Amino acid sequence: MKSEFLLRREIVEVGRRLYARGLVAATDGNISVRLRGDRILVTPAESCLGELRPEELIVVPSQPTPLSPRPVSSLLPQRLRPTSELPMHRQAYIQRPEIGAVVHAHPPIITAFTVAGLSLAAPVLPEVAIALGPVPTAPYATPSTDAGARAIEELIRTHDAILLDRHGAITVGTNPLDAYRKLEKLEHCAQVVLAAHQLGRIQTLPPDEVARLQELKNVGGAHGPLPRP
Ligand SMILES: [Zn+2]
Repeated sequence: MKSEFLLRREIVEVGRRLYARGLVAATDGNISVRLRGDRILVTPAESCLGELRPEELIVVPSQPTPLSPRPVSSLLPQRLRPTSELPMHRQAYIQRPEIGAVVHAHPPIITAFTVAGLSLAAPVLPEVAIALGPVPTAPYATPSTDAGARAIEELIRTHDAILLDRHGAITVGTNPLDAYRKLEKLEHCAQVVLAAHQLGRIQTLPPDEVARLQELKNVGGAHGPLPRP
């Protein structure tokens, strides 16, 4: 596992990319990474991900405990609060012991699909089918509440990327950059599907090709090396 120092820098880099690419606005979105010793490193509440500093990130227990309701440690004298979406991040780590990072953002096209009541689960692009498989949509939950954690509880066990109804998406990965790239790929897919819809009808991949792509994914493993179409 990388040092906490490097992981802090990696979260800052992912925050910068999310903001620069318009996948979050203002103080939206949050990032976390798993640390040794049942702890996670998370972004602070009400912070702009494009302007994060490594020392602003907060270490919290990976599961809430009555003995330590407050952050384990902060490198700054002022008291920063962890992101209000911490329950959703914790849920992902509980359900997926093998993952190392979680990214939640509000990509505009992904979010527009859920506002319109449309799904991105249909197989359309081969590279997305290989990397992410079908991407489901979790039911609406009031942001910043425990309902958000409950909404992803089942789906996150078998999916690395989930749309959140009216609330962007969440992706998980081996590290922050891995989770970020899945989110970036998903928003790109949403842009392609939107453009295709404007041009005409959506043509999904045939079932036999989806099965072939699933075999390719299995050869690479869920988190292993993937072919680069
Ligand atoms: Zn959010």
